[in-house]
Amino acid sequence: MEKTLKEILNLNRKYTNYGQVASYIPELKNAKRDDLGICIIDKDNNIYKAGNCDTKFTIQSISKPIVLAMALMDNDWSYVFSKVGMEPSGDPFNSIMKLETNDSKKPSNPMINAGAIVTTSLIKGASVEEKEERMLKFFRKLANNDTLDINYEVYKSEKTTGDRNRAMAYLLKNDGFVQGNVEEILDLYFKQCSIEVDVVDLARIGINLAMYGVNIENNERLLSERVSRMVKTFMITCGMYDSSGEFAIKVGIPAKSGVGGGIMASVPNSMGIGVYGPALDKKGNSIAGVKVLEELSHRYKLNIF
Ligand code: GLU
Repeated sequence: MEKTLKEILNLNRKYTNYGQVASYIPELKNAKRDDLGICIIDKDNNIYKAGNCDTKFTIQSISKPIVLAMALMDNDWSYVFSKVGMEPSGDPFNSIMKLETNDSKKPSNPMINAGAIVTTSLIKGASVEEKEERMLKFFRKLANNDTLDINYEVYKSEKTTGDRNRAMAYLLKNDGFVQGNVEEILDLYFKQCSIEVDVVDLARIGINLAMYGVNIENNERLLSERVSRMVKTFMITCGMYDSSGEFAIKVGIPAKSGVGGGIMASVPNSMGIGVYGPALDKKGNSIAGVKVLEELSHRYKLNIF
């Protein structure tokens, strides 16, 4: 398997020359555009790696399905979905437009920034510190890695430049979709996006979702089967920004990408995949990362449809 992974990386390495490393969060532009790495963990807990597997990067939007799972475990589902919708938006991840033009003004889904700010606001905790602690603990459990932590340079970088998210969050409060202290909610959102991972962590999160919430290493249930199904469904319909339709057709695997260059994919009942390649297309997806997943899906017939 590792031989095939190396071959797939080599075949697609040329795509690291296309696109741009994200720079709207200034710290992100320090990534090396020619890095490319992949890790697969299968349901028998075999781990296969190739390329830049130890490179750390921030999880960014891949935090969204995880925080959605927390919001669904912390609250009544009907309450969660009264605040955030279930439909693909077809708009860029940071679009503010539908918060005005949607009939209900409700964010379309939890995979775009507006919807993710809502799910972050639904994390329970007696204080901001407790919410952050619970969040980090859940990420660590899902990645099976106690050392996961926030990259404070990236966090500060986004906090000082994140005025678009700030604008969205205040609008959401004005329209009743978030409650409480907006700056505290944003702070938690910027922190969740700044959690540092590598492709092995992403593959582990992917396999835990693929196995319907049960950690195959120790049999611990991390989330319910139904929540894990909902999360994967959002990943297939909305996980790859406004390319989710094309990705579903070409790759056919529930996946979530982030502007840090990572993609976490989860093949139900089979495997978790983490990919990293920081040069992004205009929509925010890793160009080489998507190509690698496409090739992998064809070779191993991973398309879930
Ligand atoms: N922290 C980023 C933002 O809010 C996440 C975007 C992403 O990865 O799609 O803009």
